Amino acid sequence: MRWWGWGDDAHAVDLPEAALSPLSERLGADPGVRARPVALEDVRVPEVSLAPATRGRLEQAVGAEAVTQERLARIVHAAGKSYPDLVRLRRGDASNAPDAVVAPGSAEEVGAVLAICAEARVAVVPFGGGTSVVGGVEPVSDGFAGAISLDLRRLDGLEALDRVSLTASFGAGLLGPEAERRLAREGLTLGHLPQSFEFSTVGGWVATRSAGQASTGYGRIDELVEGLRLVAPAGELAARPLPASAAGPDLRELLVGSEGVLGVICEATLRLRPLPAVRRYEGWSFRSFTEGCEALRVMEQADAGPDVARLSDEEETELSSALAPGGGAERIGRTYLRMRGHEAGCLAIVGFEGEAKEVERRRHRAAGLLREGGALGLGRRPGEIWQRSRYGGPYLRDALLDHGVMVDTLETATSWSNLTAVHAAVGRALREALDNRGTPALVMCHVSHLYRSGASLYFTFLARQERDEPLEQWRAAKSAASEAIVALGATITHHHAIGRDHRPWMRAEVGELGIGLLRAAKERLDPAGIMNPGKLLPD
Ligand SMILES: Cc1cc2nc3c(=O)[nH]c(=O)nc-3n(C[C@H](O)[C@H](O)[C@H](O)COP(=O)(O)OP(=O)(O)OC[C@H]3O[C@@H](n4cnc5c(N)ncnc54)[C@H](O)[C@@H]3O)c2cc1C
Repeated sequence: MRWWGWGDDAHAVDLPEAALSPLSERLGADPGVRARPVALEDVRVPEVSLAPATRGRLEQAVGAEAVTQERLARIVHAAGKSYPDLVRLRRGDASNAPDAVVAPGSAEEVGAVLAICAEARVAVVPFGGGTSVVGGVEPVSDGFAGAISLDLRRLDGLEALDRVSLTASFGAGLLGPEAERRLAREGLTLGHLPQSFEFSTVGGWVATRSAGQASTGYGRIDELVEGLRLVAPAGELAARPLPASAAGPDLRELLVGSEGVLGVICEATLRLRPLPAVRRYEGWSFRSFTEGCEALRVMEQADAGPDVARLSDEEETELSSALAPGGGAERIGRTYLRMRGHEAGCLAIVGFEGEAKEVERRRHRAAGLLREGGALGLGRRPGEIWQRSRYGGPYLRDALLDHGVMVDTLETATSWSNLTAVHAAVGRALREALDNRGTPALVMCHVSHLYRSGASLYFTFLARQERDEPLEQWRAAKSAASEAIVALGATITHHHAIGRDHRPWMRAEVGELGIGLLRAAKERLDPAGIMNPGKLLPD
């Protein structure tokens, strides 16, 4: 993984020519400007403040080779992959780098590390794949005798596969592709495919309540958790693997989404599905976003929902063709759309997975409802293009940053009756906040997860990056959008989690008493307060 961006150099992309003119026309971005990251040797890393004696004890607990203070490792563990993270790293700022990176090889070693750190008052930041986009893995060491990043990559087992019950226990540090590879050998799948799939881990998914691209059908990660093993400074807490239980409040629900502030999820027992025999993804066009939302609602509430459902708004439909290499409406045939009154319409991708006959039956029913809702079938091509390019977007973000373009995403969920109001309000808030700074924005959105009562909205916004104050520019936009979300009663996050960036809105989310309750749980599990300080809970 690039320390300053996404993925590896072998898969890097540059902006397609077709994208440069819309960017310069609409954003005022200079297509020629190249804002490359600084050289690795120019990155500023703070002095180590961890006491040598503490380092010695950590080495005894996990082995000397599993503790490193090497410069590159500290830089890689200094931040996640949010826009502000990348802006700072690209400019050579790794001032929050941990004092050491520690990689325990078992849950018992995790317990030993936490005991040492609690005693020495060293902050501990659990680190899965480090793909957090909300500042979740950035070390905070103020008030502590140092901070370590607890890299969980060695907890990578797949154990206790129960073919009869369709469950398996995963080590928290197992990466998405490896988990799916091992399950595929058994003819099974989790079906959990966030866009960060290639570089994120099972433990990270559970700790952030992630949603995969096929979560409408397979369920979010919270719906896939059967049991958990959490190691906290105060001891071990097991939410036993069970299909259901009425034994009081469900502790799984407390641990899922706990973002490393309560302890370390070392193992997760998750629910599996048979590997689908068939995957069928198709494109549909609607005349407007409102029409599309209504058709998706009717389909979902009729229990005819697909496994993947994504509806782009007008702006995203138009721009995706220019921005995404190999994707979007451009390939669909503008004439075809124009002849049917859909030239300024919205593209939806609808996908089904499973046994061939079952896929056909579900597809047929959904297609009928979509047509009744005004949709025009575009066939398989748009679906196949989307499938092929589904992991390509994050590389494009690096290319946009190279061209001095700010690009970030944010997401929320709300009821069907509130959906179009939130869509309009967040778009307006982003445009106004960026217009006020003299950097007009492009704001695009799609619906990506359907529920009986509502859906998620995923926004992408772009503007010419301010050279002197890129973080202030981003903060103004983020803040305006978050206020708009909260004002309309939508959630501050549907799947990215709270981390550092959403903390100011956590009170609006759960209330003062709710925060007190979470704090009480933290004090019981983590009395010294060493677990991932500065995340999830507001001051
Ligand atoms: C390009 C891109 C695309 C993305 N797409 C999606 C998407 O489609 N859906 C989605 O839901 N999210 C998405 N994300 C956000 C992110 O990938 C998810 O939040 C993911 O679940 C994080 O997994 P990770 O292993 O990288 O966790 P990290 O980033 O390493 O950690 C995330 C948080 O969880 C904590 N944590 C990690 N592991 C553990 C553990 N074992 N025990 C306790 N705490 C732990 C960390 O301390 C941190 O607070 C995307 C991010 C990027 C950069």
